Amino acid sequence: MKRITAGMSAFACAVALTAGVAAAQGDKPVDGFLAKTTRPAPNREPVIDLPQDRAAAAAALGRARARFGRAPNIVMILVDDVGWSDIGVFGGGAAVGSPTPNLDRLAAGGLRLTSAYSQPSCTPTRAALLTGRLPVRSGLLRPYLPGENNAATGLNGEVTLAELLKKAGYATQAIGKWHLGGAEQAQPQNVGFDDYYGILTSSDDYTAWREPWRNPDLVNDPDRRAWAEKGETMGIVAGKTGAAATLAYPIDRDTIRFVDEKLTDRATQFIASRKNEKNPFFLYVGTRGAHFDNYPHPQVAGKSPGRYPYKDVIVELDHRVGQVVEALKASGQLDNTIVMIASDNGPMLETFPDTGTTPFRSGKGSIYEGGVRTPMIVSWPGVIAPGRVSDGLFDLMDVFATSLSLAGRADLVPTDRYIDSIDQTGFFLAPQGQSARRVEYYWVNNIFMGARVAEFKYLMHDQITESDDSWPRSSPFSAAYTTSVYGGKMFDLYIDPKEEHALAPLKQPQIPVVAAAVQAQLATFKAYPPKVPIR
Ligand code: CA
Repeated sequence: MKRITAGMSAFACAVALTAGVAAAQGDKPVDGFLAKTTRPAPNREPVIDLPQDRAAAAAALGRARARFGRAPNIVMILVDDVGWSDIGVFGGGAAVGSPTPNLDRLAAGGLRLTSAYSQPSCTPTRAALLTGRLPVRSGLLRPYLPGENNAATGLNGEVTLAELLKKAGYATQAIGKWHLGGAEQAQPQNVGFDDYYGILTSSDDYTAWREPWRNPDLVNDPDRRAWAEKGETMGIVAGKTGAAATLAYPIDRDTIRFVDEKLTDRATQFIASRKNEKNPFFLYVGTRGAHFDNYPHPQVAGKSPGRYPYKDVIVELDHRVGQVVEALKASGQLDNTIVMIASDNGPMLETFPDTGTTPFRSGKGSIYEGGVRTPMIVSWPGVIAPGRVSDGLFDLMDVFATSLSLAGRADLVPTDRYIDSIDQTGFFLAPQGQSARRVEYYWVNNIFMGARVAEFKYLMHDQITESDDSWPRSSPFSAAYTTSVYGGKMFDLYIDPKEEHALAPLKQPQIPVVAAAVQAQLATFKAYPPKVPIR
């Protein structure tokens, strides 16, 4: 410890000491601020090398493979627009009128990540997770909006996690929200999933035009209604590889209440069907609920302590997650399944009061923490030590390389394009694993906003959420604009998690460290030009 802390400030020393307790059984405690990184390959994001964590993870995977005879099943549940503190173990739950006992139990039995990151909105997050690449590289910068999704070609030219896991021998199933293009070739069953059952676009696309309080013209005028009906996707669709998905369950303002139940039924049926199969599976579930507007199942509507539809929906989602876990347990597969749960972005502030909560600044659409800090739980009973909590940096993009390592096929990570995803198996599986990610980058569309290293977040651009055009006034998703900031903004997220006090003058010594990380990231775009020019 003396050697590590020599020459460090008292504050950094305290951080190292705390981390030292956590890392007693693994690599020496990492101070991300000082950590050195290495590139695993020219096209890969630099990592903090943690050989003991890597060895412990390899040993854990080896033991699991010896016990089960194959690689683990991988379940990724992506909830929609759920706030960081809507979940009990993240400080909300009962405290905000929506108890989440199933999620809390899952977190208690595994790993809770307090600095996991999404992109600011649905489509970029989902694209990043499934490609391991920043949205500016894949070209999927922002959500497809009504009128765009049906023809959108989405992940065109990208290599998806599902495609690679299929190569690794996995059965691949997608269920629920897609929002990565509705054209036939862009649908999940045609970009690596064997089978798809879900909604191709965003929840509100099915309902917003039907709500008289939102759009009375479309509801009440027969001609406008006919126009609206012609443009929209009709409901849950289903399909298998090689064909377009077809309508399986029409959605309207009444039937939408049953969509998450339908999706969960399909997930639990899929899990049950895998019971005696020899090969592992990848199950990707995007829930509908919690995205505005909120339509809880009749059994929970008005029954959460908070009583708002959003609160009811959180209670329902918690129940649905419980059903998926129970299906894994009942079919004897829970012990060989890693379950990851996260939100695709922060809460939607424009729909207040019927929306989620976050202790951080701003919400969906924003690169402030409220927009991108996602509540993430990782569980694999018997392999991931229970009760772990880590503030190590994790980006949902890391699911890509991590999953391929879990599958024993790290060699499948593409070499012909830049991969931002970091293999975090050591972080997840070592008893006191630490994150191999040193830098988190903040992007909105194709604007590189800034980066976080350790507790320091440096922004070169500011995102102004109070536009004259926006309603409510603080409205990052609908009407934000960006400006460059002279000298940049520096936040210390440990003393100022709400990002209320930019500290650039006080933190001059640390700024060059984060700025250097930004420059290193920018250099990757010279060697690997992005699909969309950077602004
Ligand atoms: Ca979302």
